[in-house]
Amino acid sequence: MNKIEDKMDAIVALCKRRGFVFQGSEIYGGLAGTWDYGPLGEALKWNVQSVWLRRFVWGKGNMFKVNAAILMNQKVWQASGHAAGFADPLVECKKCKHRFRADQITAADSEKGKCPDCGGELGAQRQFNMMFETHVGAVQDASSISYLRPETAQGMFVNFKNILDTEHPRLPFGMAQIGKAFRNEIAPRDFLFRSREFEQMEIEYFVDPKDWEKSFEYFRAEMNAFMSDIGLSATRIHELEVPESDRAHYSRRTIDFEYDFPFGRKELYGLAYRGDFDLKQHSEFSKVDLSYYDEEKKERFVPHCIEPSFGLDRSVLAILCDAYTEDDMGGDKRIYLKLHPSVAPYKVAVFPLLRNKPELVKKAEEVFATIQKDIPMTDYDDNGNVGKRYRRQDEIGTPFCVTIDFETIEKGNGVTVRDRDSGKQERVAEGELLKYLKDKVKG
Ligand code: ATP
Repeated sequence: MNKIEDKMDAIVALCKRRGFVFQGSEIYGGLAGTWDYGPLGEALKWNVQSVWLRRFVWGKGNMFKVNAAILMNQKVWQASGHAAGFADPLVECKKCKHRFRADQITAADSEKGKCPDCGGELGAQRQFNMMFETHVGAVQDASSISYLRPETAQGMFVNFKNILDTEHPRLPFGMAQIGKAFRNEIAPRDFLFRSREFEQMEIEYFVDPKDWEKSFEYFRAEMNAFMSDIGLSATRIHELEVPESDRAHYSRRTIDFEYDFPFGRKELYGLAYRGDFDLKQHSEFSKVDLSYYDEEKKERFVPHCIEPSFGLDRSVLAILCDAYTEDDMGGDKRIYLKLHPSVAPYKVAVFPLLRNKPELVKKAEEVFATIQKDIPMTDYDDNGNVGKRYRRQDEIGTPFCVTIDFETIEKGNGVTVRDRDSGKQERVAEGELLKYLKDKVKG
């Protein structure tokens, strides 16, 4: 496979065929920029969240996870700058009326002022605000305007004082949130990469201004470690030091973590030093004091903020692109997902060799129940023949398949465990199976 579209088409097709991701509102022809996760995609996504929580939140003591409302007072977005400035440059074709993001059409097209779709004349560039506007309550006037949040970050800044008052943390400490964000992207594209409804996993880490570099470097290393946790190849990840001219207005330093997607090297995550911009803005607009009192130094100041920001759907896409593999096995072309066990929807699948032999089924159900207690994401599969089951489990990225055969029950000779990547099978004694699997899939 050499064409980029072929690889993306193959991934999108696999996602639909196996129940990872479907087009949003598919039976009505879809809704551009929306995707629905099926059972396996949802499991994969959940795994990414739990790896993230394990690395950044659980057991940290100074990280506080919140879950703020998606609809927020419109003043939040005035304070943050989104109401006035969260916009992309839009151009419209005068002939076919198609709209494009001016910075995404090719240099040649934009220079000639021609529409990439029909060659018609492009109109003047204008700014297009990407927030989805709505009205809260029965009256539709300027005071009832609200927005579907375009990022999760602001839900944390507005709760800064609540965390100070309830948790009494000492600097440095962080707030973390996983949740939906909405952007009316001019041109949603590249499958899950740029959609209009997506999920973010964000941290706002508050520091004493003089310590910002230490925390920035800490998160830089931790973000790289997280990408390794979820199985992304280090060679496909690149750090981009964003020059001042390209940084968001509030940012004093930003590193983009870019990933080599089949459609090009693109931003996967961002790490920004936001200074005291957000807390100061919200203090000013809300008239609520958002400063911090340092008991030891007897000093009051507004903490500065480091923000590691992760797109959950972009993580899923990067994982799928990294894992998608085609090879030859036993003379047949095989497609499989070389997923890291930490994110695989199923870590293990258990089969009876034949589904019409009650003694095999009984034993397989027993083995399944034992494994499933310790490894909850275990599948039981008795559809079709064993070859078909291997093909399905390979395609959905299950690292290990356990088969119960006649030797298991007649000779007490253990079970076979097949490794997804090599296709090799080994016999493992029943009493050692759980430990064997736990050692292999932990992480
Ligand atoms: P881009 O330049 O690609 O539009 P951004 O710099 O605007 O992204 P941020 O505002 O920094 O993105 O958002 C943080 C993270 O949220 C991004 O690194 C990305 O992983 C994710 N993200 C942003 N926009 C989208 C989108 N439209 N669809 C899916 N994920 C997104």
